[in-house]
Amino acid sequence: MENRKELFGHPVGLYILFFTELWERFSYYGMRAILVLFLVASSTGDNPGFGWTKVEALGLYGIYTALVYIASIPGGIIADKWLGQKKTVIVGGWLLVLGHSILAIQAEWAFYAGISFIIAGVGCLKPNISTMVGGLYPKGDDRRDKGFTIFYIGINVGAFLAGLMVGSVAINYGWHFGFGLAGIGMALGQIGFIFGLKYLKGIGEATKALPEAERLAVNKPLTKVEKDRMIVMFISFLMIIVFWGAFEQAGGLMNLYASEKTNRMITFLNFEVPAPWFQSVNSFFIMFLGSAIAGFWYTRKKKKKEASSIFKMAIGIIIMGWGFLFMSAASMQFQVNGSSAMYWLILAYLFHTVGELSASPVALSYVTKLAPMKYASLMMGAYFAATGMGNYVAGWVGEWSQSAGELEIFTGIAIFCTLFGVLIILCLKPLKRLAHGAEDFSDDTMSGLKNTEQIETA
Ligand code: GLU
Ligand code: ASP
Repeated sequence: MENRKELFGHPVGLYILFFTELWERFSYYGMRAILVLFLVASSTGDNPGFGWTKVEALGLYGIYTALVYIASIPGGIIADKWLGQKKTVIVGGWLLVLGHSILAIQAEWAFYAGISFIIAGVGCLKPNISTMVGGLYPKGDDRRDKGFTIFYIGINVGAFLAGLMVGSVAINYGWHFGFGLAGIGMALGQIGFIFGLKYLKGIGEATKALPEAERLAVNKPLTKVEKDRMIVMFISFLMIIVFWGAFEQAGGLMNLYASEKTNRMITFLNFEVPAPWFQSVNSFFIMFLGSAIAGFWYTRKKKKKEASSIFKMAIGIIIMGWGFLFMSAASMQFQVNGSSAMYWLILAYLFHTVGELSASPVALSYVTKLAPMKYASLMMGAYFAATGMGNYVAGWVGEWSQSAGELEIFTGIAIFCTLFGVLIILCLKPLKRLAHGAEDFSDDTMSGLKNTEQIETA
């Protein structure tokens, strides 16, 4: 009975998942906000770090954040084959509590052990909790998209609080207290999930057998339409990699830039803004602009002028790329003055956010619509893996900036993203043809898959 209880028009279970993911993202983004700053901090100062070079720190940032997302693939498989999503989320939660708590210990072995547990924990938790959100709604229920939007807000509330709270604690009391606070956040999320289990009965349970339709689909060879759609899908993956490859400079290069080259002093308050606080700017803008941008596309849709997903993703990449022009301006100001103003970072993050809100919410839904039934369950994992590759590219570009020059890299990213986005827009017509009307399905991602199958078999 408790399963069916509703609150503000959505199943109570949604708020349980919201709360857990909020604290999971709090711990992840809190750790991410201070990671490279900790690695480059001198090992002999009063808040000692590892004293690594920036190249070493950005290299690790790329590999680590890539693995976090790539671990979604085994995480998804564990849930599909053995435990079901709910149990896998619980396992992931414990791994995360453990991982973040170990990071609070000041030793090199603890660092590597901690991040390994976090990789495994996010891999178990993140893809599966997202699938559970979809599972809360019966097939065809049009509240599902709204449910995902509410969930996405939870992600960003967590990320917002993380930059401010974990950042302040780490700067004022020490890095390891910051990592420890991230662990406390995750523990709260885990406790909430366990107490909320009664509202999640029948959601994300292990299923032994595949539903009949899926089992039939697995054995069929791909049709011509499916093969064409695969091409569009791989181009979408490329777009996801480019997008996150640029966007994820946030926690790496731009984080170091905020810490070392930005004048963070607010003179009339006699207060220096801690560098990790800038990690909250993106999620702050999301909370305020999210519904405005969704509303914009909604009115376009009403007027039957809605843009295609590929177009939205390409525009998102271009707008996000332009954000880097503000970083170029900041670098030029630094070269003249020896420091640059805070507003450049804020403007850069504003453009990054508008780009993210155009591209990111449609990407997963579109990729799942393009996927042949055969690979349906793989797609959530493949999507996160593409994000992971993007994170790896981000670390690599950050490392490269240390020899090529930051001004050159910031400007280069802006130019590259613009050209890439324009190229995709120029190819829009052939891409749409290859997609064979994949767009025409409802926004409900999983039912999109079912529709594909119906069209093909009809
Ligand atoms: N920033 C979002 C999150 O942490 C999106 C990441 C992604 O989709 O790759 O959930
Ligand atoms: N905006 C990221 C995720 O949406 C969070 C972050 O980078 O702080 O939703």
